Amino acid sequence: MAKKTVEDIQVAGKRVLCRVDFNVPLTEDMKVADDKRIVAAMPTIKYLLDHDAKVILCSHLGRPKGKVDMKYTLAPVAARLQELLPEVRVQFASDTVGESAQKCVADMKDGEIVLLENTRFQKEEEANDPEFSKKLANLADIFVSDAFGTVHRAHASTAGVAEYLPAVAGFLIGKELGIMGEALNNPQRPFVAILGGAKVSDKIGVIKNLLEKCDTLLIGGGMAYTFYKAMGYEIGNSLLDENSIDLAKELMADAKARGVNLMLPVDTVVAPEFNADAEYKTVPANAIPAGWMGMDIGEETRAKYAEVIKAAKTVIWNGPMGVFEFPNFAKGTSAVAEACAECEGTTIIGGGDSPPAAALPWSSWRARCCPVWPFSMINKKEV
Ligand code: AMP
Repeated sequence: MAKKTVEDIQVAGKRVLCRVDFNVPLTEDMKVADDKRIVAAMPTIKYLLDHDAKVILCSHLGRPKGKVDMKYTLAPVAARLQELLPEVRVQFASDTVGESAQKCVADMKDGEIVLLENTRFQKEEEANDPEFSKKLANLADIFVSDAFGTVHRAHASTAGVAEYLPAVAGFLIGKELGIMGEALNNPQRPFVAILGGAKVSDKIGVIKNLLEKCDTLLIGGGMAYTFYKAMGYEIGNSLLDENSIDLAKELMADAKARGVNLMLPVDTVVAPEFNADAEYKTVPANAIPAGWMGMDIGEETRAKYAEVIKAAKTVIWNGPMGVFEFPNFAKGTSAVAEACAECEGTTIIGGGDSPPAAALPWSSWRARCCPVWPFSMINKKEV
């Protein structure tokens, strides 16, 4: 299937919903502290404006957990956009798919912008709720996926909406597709994929896709415990993606059938509470004590994973191996980062949270850092 970009379609006069990554830091007085991501989205936005599209932008910002929380409003981003594009009318909708969004869109002319309020103010966003996806889709004629760092997530505004609209890639994604296409379609082997982060369900598309291509899949992070559960292990209070236990079983069976070596942590660092200063110890994978939770991959796992990574010719990594925000539980992620740096092959790092900056030995970093997972989610429909 050809992966189309905005250049392959007619956008003049059309309402184009563009999923961008405006997940920018805000100052205490609610100004954009760093507009790098807004500037990065400009090539696609300007192309659409120059070609007389009605540009409807949507994004998440932070983790408001499905509730309206004005700490995470995109209003300051609208103000910054207006500064960057002084000639263009920029309207800000105070909701995502409600009255304000509909009114702003109805009121817009070709070559204008509407920025919708934070998609994650709706709990339906992260649940990839079809009704919410339909409401988003109803605002537009075309969907453009250009959210650097978020495209790998199966959320309504990144994946769900593409079920109901013709979908193409923006320039950021298009560029990454080109760069990564070779690595993915024609990988040098052994090809090792590393997946971590919180939830299995968030990354189903990525996992399935990788299983078709990689030789070894290393699992870490919170998602490992759902796999443990699927294997019948007790996981104490570890993160569990309850609805994905069967899926984890399916993925393990699929890996086996394909001859992919799916590796799970053999040991895990556990703590009695989710806290930076919590007491901790390392236990075998099948011996997590009741009341304790898995916070990181253990020492033996780090060594095993490092060995596999260093011997790889292609490495793709998405998602941290543990709760890297707490230094005591960042060691697994650091170990994987160091192994990637030592690997002689092509190393691609993806996903918003994967390379915790502090853990990466940037000076010796030969890897290509592409915070995008452009396969699987794009271009479900021909235009
Ligand atoms: P994701 O955004 O899905 O890549 O997940 C990143 C998040 O997963 C980070 O905030 C990590 O703290 C979290 N995470 C990684 N390992 C664990 C774990 N063992 N338990 C809970 N959360 C985790």
